[in-house]
Amino acid sequence: MKPCPSCEKGNLTEVEDIANELEGYIFIVNGQRCSSCSEEFIEEHAGQKMITTAKKLGLWGEPLKLHRKLSRSARGTVLRIPTDIEKNLHLKGTEDITIAKIGDRKLLIEIE
Ligand SMILES: [Zn+2]
Repeated sequence: MKPCPSCEKGNLTEVEDIANELEGYIFIVNGQRCSSCSEEFIEEHAGQKMITTAKKLGLWGEPLKLHRKLSRSARGTVLRIPTDIEKNLHLKGTEDITIAKIGDRKLLIEIE
């Protein structure tokens, strides 16, 4: 058994129920927990497995991307927000937003 690198008093025991948050989702992974200070240490390969799983689920690196076409109205260019995003963000349609231009081909829309 290894002594705890955090408190140096307790011993580390193998556990399989460490809750770790990644990109807003909780993953339960293997690791070690200190018997004294309860500090948890995730195994390196468990951390990597978690990232692989997150990638498979599309939670990692790639934000929710949907393709939409812009349209023209008399007052300018219109972007319709897809219904699922609308629901997900609880949009009422009356919110103020800010649109930021990032680089040459990206816009970031923030709901205020
Ligand atoms: Zn400890």
